[in-house]
Amino acid sequence: MEREKRRAWAEIDLGSLDHNYHALRSMLPEDCKMLCSVKANGYGHGALPVAKRLERLGADYLAVACLEEAIQLREGGITLPILILGWTDPELAPELIRYKLTQSVFDGEFALRLSQCAQRAGKTITVHLAVDTGMSRLGFLCGEKELAGTVEEVTRIYPLPGLAWEGIFTHFSDADGSEEYTMLQFTRFLDLLKALEKQNIKFKIRHCAASAAVLNYPCTCLDMVRPGIALYGHYPHPSCEDLSEDGLRPLMTLKTRVVSVKTVPAGTPVSYGRTHVLERETRLAVLSVGYGDGLPRGCSDKLRVWMSGQWAPIVGRICMDLCMADVTDLPQVCQGDETEIWGGHAAVEEVARLAGTIQYELLCGVGKRVPRVYLE
Ligand SMILES: *Cc1c(COP(=O)(O)O)cnc(C)c1O
Repeated sequence: MEREKRRAWAEIDLGSLDHNYHALRSMLPEDCKMLCSVKANGYGHGALPVAKRLERLGADYLAVACLEEAIQLREGGITLPILILGWTDPELAPELIRYKLTQSVFDGEFALRLSQCAQRAGKTITVHLAVDTGMSRLGFLCGEKELAGTVEEVTRIYPLPGLAWEGIFTHFSDADGSEEYTMLQFTRFLDLLKALEKQNIKFKIRHCAASAAVLNYPCTCLDMVRPGIALYGHYPHPSCEDLSEDGLRPLMTLKTRVVSVKTVPAGTPVSYGRTHVLERETRLAVLSVGYGDGLPRGCSDKLRVWMSGQWAPIVGRICMDLCMADVTDLPQVCQGDETEIWGGHAAVEEVARLAGTIQYELLCGVGKRVPRVYLE
């Protein structure tokens, strides 16, 4: 679709991906591998183009949430190892084998069933053991009380036929918050590794650091790191922010255009629910973007957008496909003008704050109907 016809689009600067990738790489020990998280359509940036670029950059591994996401990458020609972080029905073992995918294993029953299905297919599935050191999400528990039981269980599943244990990992819940808790999680992880080693159980790739830990606790990098958000140019949390000039660069700019401009008399309500009543005669610009594109309705009447070199406030509720900006003080604005919703001038972090959420959610939430336009 040519530029003129687009109603809302996301420009993705792949050059910034190169920059962020190298910036992260430079923080890592030389032999530390990098697994890049491209789950949820590459955090909304388009999983395949991002994965292709990462493959070219020399990434070691990719991670996705589920089998479908992994297959999409394989069908698109990606040959890097891919780790599925979430659950896969063991009955789908033939797919894991066919597409050469790595599966995370987070309980004994699952390991057993996966092993049976792999044997039935006469093949071996590469697996990583997920350890729950305090996130209370996926993985074998390994707090003080559970450690012995987990060692026992892992000792039992480790020799199962059809499974090739390549890696072991855990995930920090507060690496952008508490150092104490992060170190507690890290210590639990190391304790488990030690206990397993005593049973002669070793893993080639031990990994635990996502973006926040890579930035805040380089000591946790081990054999591989798993950044996501930082690759897309965003700090997981303002506390991680490195204000040096060579910091991370956001990839995405969400843009739309003005589809109508008109002057409305003072006292007129704007949009659904009439939450905003115009105090003065107002030039309203109607923008062709709404919550159906991923612009959160929660920032109705709070957001400002960048158009024609100035800020313009959004007035009234954000609709599914449209929203309205007050451009009374921007007389130069006219139909067809490009408008920036986030990226460039308006940080997505600020939009997220107004909407009461985090940048991750907004990036992932950019709608299907918003074309991604890749800049080299
Ligand atoms: C999403 C995810 C990551 C990446 O996290 P970021 O904060 O985006 O760097 C790493 N590991 C696991 C297990 C994840 O679910």
